[in-house]
Amino acid sequence: METGNAIEQTKSELVLLVGKLRRLCLTILAPRKTRNRMQKRTSKCRQCASCCKFIFRCPMLDENNLCKIYHSRFRPLVCRKFPIDQRDLEDVYISSGRRCGYSFIDTQSRQQRLH
Ligand code: SF4
Repeated sequence: METGNAIEQTKSELVLLVGKLRRLCLTILAPRKTRNRMQKRTSKCRQCASCCKFIFRCPMLDENNLCKIYHSRFRPLVCRKFPIDQRDLEDVYISSGRRCGYSFIDTQSRQQRLH
């Protein structure tokens, strides 16, 4: 049973690692694509800090789970852009079992909303 849990945890960590690399690549190598995806983002951050604890707890979190460099120019771009798309919301759920405050609308419903 413990082996099963360890395997599941390893699988989750692999998914989260791939997510981290994917976001890093998107934000650095494909800023326009990142921007386009983010335009479908709706709702807002609940400041739950779940995205700051993927695989490891970010050392920039204080004891109240608030980012110490949130308003600083040193805050990484990849943090500023989170979540980029639906896959990132799934990473939040995999990591914490929580729902991110953001959601994404598909292009069709976005167009309906704007008209
Ligand atoms: S997981 Fe979502 S709601 Fe929570 S801090 Fe990150 S962006 Fe905000």
